[in-house]
Amino acid sequence: MYTDVSLFIDGAWTKAASGRTIDVVNPATGDRIGSVAHAERADLDHALEAAEKGFRTWRKVSAFDRSKVMRKAADILRGRADAVAELLTMEQGKPLPEAKGEVLAAADVIDWFAEEARRTYGRVIPSRAEGVYQFVVKEPVGPVAAFTPWNFPINQVVRKLSGALAAGCSIIVKAPEETPASPAELIRAFADAGVPAGVMNLVYGVPAEISEYLIPHPTIRKISFTGSTAVGKQLAALAGAHMKRVTMELGGHAPVIVFDDADIAKAAKLVAAAKYRNAGQVCASPTRMLVQESVYEQFVDGFVAHSKALKIGSGLESGVTMGPLANTRRVAAMETFIGDAQQKGATIRTGGNRIGNKGNFFEPTVLTDVPTEARVMNEEPFGPLALISPFRGFEDAVAEANRLPYGLASYAYTRSAKTANAIAAAVEAGMMSINHHGLALPETPFGGVRDSGYGSEGGSEAIEAYLNSKFVTQAEL
Ligand code: NAD
Repeated sequence: MYTDVSLFIDGAWTKAASGRTIDVVNPATGDRIGSVAHAERADLDHALEAAEKGFRTWRKVSAFDRSKVMRKAADILRGRADAVAELLTMEQGKPLPEAKGEVLAAADVIDWFAEEARRTYGRVIPSRAEGVYQFVVKEPVGPVAAFTPWNFPINQVVRKLSGALAAGCSIIVKAPEETPASPAELIRAFADAGVPAGVMNLVYGVPAEISEYLIPHPTIRKISFTGSTAVGKQLAALAGAHMKRVTMELGGHAPVIVFDDADIAKAAKLVAAAKYRNAGQVCASPTRMLVQESVYEQFVDGFVAHSKALKIGSGLESGVTMGPLANTRRVAAMETFIGDAQQKGATIRTGGNRIGNKGNFFEPTVLTDVPTEARVMNEEPFGPLALISPFRGFEDAVAEANRLPYGLASYAYTRSAKTANAIAAAVEAGMMSINHHGLALPETPFGGVRDSGYGSEGGSEAIEAYLNSKFVTQAEL
């Protein structure tokens, strides 16, 4: 059952000081299913004080012991996976198997960072003089403020939380108000595993009010944000004004380049599966499918067939492969993008409409002949909307792939090793996956370039984001 969600400050689940709450709505029905506490200044001050205290405690816990607590949290979360997945589906909409996959993937992320915590090695640098010893030591950056969105309510938090805790930082997480219960369960798993009071704090409220207060606050030393490029730029500017370290995981508009030597049937199947995962509300979602002319119609036919075969419905129903969109804003955005593209000459190959008048259901939609000036060719659709265009040669595909200022995920399909190497080198992106969709593992870097942000939320780079390098030199007296 869905329960009302509290703040978690200084080791205690607590209502907001003002008593205010925000409603939580099930996107499959439009019904209110609960509420979440709405933090205001007094709660944030309490969380900041707790994070300051928590940092003093946690930085002194050895990496070896931090790792043990984290591994315990991962096991607790695994043990609760079914119950947590159900909350996630109720508040976010994704099919239950996807929700459970998210919970189990979060446990893997925790385990990986727990191991990595024990490997935050510094180094010894040979000195120029006898009797002089030079070291680089890694120190936790300090209390972190993390802001995470509603598309992966658990996984967006777990990467920031695990990286921070592994490094010895404390953290205040501003989790998504629309999907608050599942991230709260993640925090509960860590608390039950023995993370000391104050080390992790969880708040919800008005995102802009919270970020404007926390980012400049002297207690906070590092900001990590996942969300839209527009908001990321504002927060990065604010962080820059206060000289805070920043990780920004922002929007994308991923190109998928399908060459004529690829296995076209397989490519259409894999790309469609990736497109409609989480109803397309994924920053790394394949968006602009660029297909070589001679295999274009074959790819479109395959993609449309897979789009039509999806079973749309409540994520709690068995057999459903695509749930509702997470909020009504996304339904409105789909309608606007499609209307604009159609008016500019696009063809709808399938879909194009919302389904029913209850819940945020939308048809898997494929558009072709979409002109470059259509809004959806330039803005992240963040929904079940696929754009397929033909290209003639390698250079044309690269020019279109690099046309936009985004540079997060990119994909390519080819049987030629030479083409694979060339396309991986030519596309400006933080990630390229060839002949499969193999991104977002805990042990591999995850992040973008250009307007998609900077920093990484995976791989050894992700823990570096929470560490300072201190140089210590010592001479014999
Ligand atoms: P939005 O841009 O207002 O919000 C995106 C996220 O940022 C939300 O979680 C929100 O709470 C947070 N946010 C907004 N303003 C903030 C502020 N001033 N301070 C701190 N946090 C703030 O809009 P939205 O309707 O929620 O999402 C729209 C777009 O955001 C999508 O189309 C997509 O491009 C992008 N988005 C990206 C991701 C991602 O994984 N990179 C996730 C969710 C949304």
